[in-house]
Amino acid sequence: MKSAPTPAMTAPRENPWEMALRQFNGAADHLPLKRGIRDFLVLPHRELTVNFPVQMDDGGVRIFTGYRVHHSTVLGPTKGGIRYATEVDLDEVRALAMWMTWKCALMHLPYGGAKGGVAVDPRDLSRAELEHLTRRYTTEISVVIGPQRDIPAPDVGTNDQIMAWIMDTYSMHAGHSVPAVVTGKPVSIGGSAGRREATGRGVMIAAREAAAHAGTTLRDARVVVQGFGNVGSVSAYLLHDQGARIVGLSDIYGAIQNPDGIDPRAALRHAQQHGRLEGFPGAEAINNSQLLELPCDMLVPAAIEGQITRANAARIKAKIVVEGANGPTTPDADEILNERGVLIVPDILANAGGVIVSYFEWVQDLSSLFWSEGEINERLEPIMVKAFRGVVRLAKEREVDLRTAALIYAVRRVADALMTRGIYP
Ligand code: NAD
Repeated sequence: MKSAPTPAMTAPRENPWEMALRQFNGAADHLPLKRGIRDFLVLPHRELTVNFPVQMDDGGVRIFTGYRVHHSTVLGPTKGGIRYATEVDLDEVRALAMWMTWKCALMHLPYGGAKGGVAVDPRDLSRAELEHLTRRYTTEISVVIGPQRDIPAPDVGTNDQIMAWIMDTYSMHAGHSVPAVVTGKPVSIGGSAGRREATGRGVMIAAREAAAHAGTTLRDARVVVQGFGNVGSVSAYLLHDQGARIVGLSDIYGAIQNPDGIDPRAALRHAQQHGRLEGFPGAEAINNSQLLELPCDMLVPAAIEGQITRANAARIKAKIVVEGANGPTTPDADEILNERGVLIVPDILANAGGVIVSYFEWVQDLSSLFWSEGEINERLEPIMVKAFRGVVRLAKEREVDLRTAALIYAVRRVADALMTRGIYP
């Protein structure tokens, strides 16, 4: 779990919602959309803000603010993670919800986009306080979530245990078990085999496809991964398994590098034991800004938004950026990297493995029939590969970068569905 600002994060960060709007406009300009339809596609469908009390261990009561935003319900029930981090605010949740709409559309999943979050550093809370906060937040947003309505999942600062508390709280209110209300749960209560690794596995597949597209392979590719939580750690060890050399890693506390390569599984054991990468033997400590600028072939940002900006884009050495995180590259940085010929595999394509396997989990819960990890991975692979190649094809046709192509594809799908459904009443 993460949170608390590092020095690198204290610089004023770009508003994620404004970033998401600029990206949308860049794609929507390529489509023949009427004004009203364009506005309906971009504005969040509904937004819930909740201020709620939590009983703390010291006997006091603290008020927390949480959100749940449904960006679009055109393609189906909404889907999207829940984030616990100090910086969570309505604009961030809106942006993350909009990116979920496009990601699900791009992957042909029967979902609209949503996101939720609570402004809290989970590391400041005891386990009991975290459970109280989660159960109360779930109760507050229970008016908008449900297995046919909106299905949360883990994101930054949340994990399978938190999903278990959400599932249990919702089930207690319903009077019966409702496993399909969240995904990313422990396997023992209806979670899916392969879900924990799914986002990182998808990142690895996208990275492999990107390397092939650029006329190279992952073998001996020098890779830097920013963020060492669920997405970053799994991406790092699966890329390592493909023959890549992990030359830099980071978490919120700092970064480490070794041009000869870092064993990501050993780094993970160290991080699990010590709560951070710092002090990992056989690597040199550097800071997070230095990490992003290390000489490498591929950079996988897998932490939070707004990390590659106008300020550092010119100094990024990677030839390929695979966005494990949502929104790590600002639109200004996109322009700079594109001009420099850096290939960017956009978030809605690169990190979609998580929501794809979340979809499999939901289908398994609804049908009470469970698949093996092998079956999950076999079904994930072709969806990622097909989407990657489709985006590359569209990018060539339209003479645009991969992000714009992915967004054109996704926005067009949602617009077509909207026109087919019609405007109610
Ligand atoms: P996590 O909480 O498991 O890990 C986040 C990691 O980032 C931690 O190692 C934390 O220390 C680090 N971090 C946070 N701020 C940092 C900073 N400024 N510099 C360096 N490191 C920093 O979260 P996660 O689930 O791995 O999510 C990471 C990103 O991937 C987010 O953008 C999230 O939205 C996106 N994502 C997650 C999933 C999923 O299935 N979990 C799916 C798709 C996309």
